[in-house]
Amino acid sequence: MNLIFLGPPGAGKGTHAVRLSQQLGIPQISTGDMLRSHVREQTDLGIEAKKYMDAGELVPDDVIIGMVKMRLQDADCKNGYIFDGFPRTVAQAEALDAFADIDAVLNLIVSDEVIIDRLSGRRVCPQCNGTFHLRYLENKELCPVCGNKLVQRKDDLPETVLNRLDVYRRQTQPLIAYYDQKGLLRNADGEGSVDDNYNGVLQALDIQ
Ligand code: ADP
Ligand code: ZN
Repeated sequence: MNLIFLGPPGAGKGTHAVRLSQQLGIPQISTGDMLRSHVREQTDLGIEAKKYMDAGELVPDDVIIGMVKMRLQDADCKNGYIFDGFPRTVAQAEALDAFADIDAVLNLIVSDEVIIDRLSGRRVCPQCNGTFHLRYLENKELCPVCGNKLVQRKDDLPETVLNRLDVYRRQTQPLIAYYDQKGLLRNADGEGSVDDNYNGVLQALDIQ
């Protein structure tokens, strides 16, 4: 099954995509994670992408499309994959149509208030890529999974969060209509508990 997870930043795309990828045995492809690993390794692509990412802007379409196209050639994508954070613009979706066959697009619905709270309280582990909310961390400094020091992503700082929401509304939200017209859109609630939301995701996608 070839899936796309759509939704505003902080909707829980990553959390549910990772879980579903384990359940189905197909890879989760997060363009955000791929870009952050380029930034860490200081590749040419990473150096170029960093300035956009830190400002909460989108990385140019041609960079993203080339990166995704290469990734889909890896052997582990043969039986399906879950895109998380891609496509993010209509141009990316149109490009994708030329080299992939998408079965369904899962749209997670979350209000702005919830998004702002989630992103501003988010801490991430650079070691295991885990994502946590300050409110639920007993130790606010260390990753509860691997013990590494937690960090706040630069793009989770308050001014940048507002910009990312704005970028989402202008550039990514039009994809909802784009995929609805193709009959691929499935909606699910992103505001409940992680488990409830995940069950909603499975239901929306008709997965047992
Ligand atoms: P979010 O938490 O906003 O969903 P991601 O980890 O998906 O964050 O992405 C972080 C940043 O990486 C984005 O703000 C953007 O700069 C860049 N990025 C990720 N995916 C894309 C994409 N498909 N197109 C353009 N830029 C992207
Ligand atoms: Zn960790």
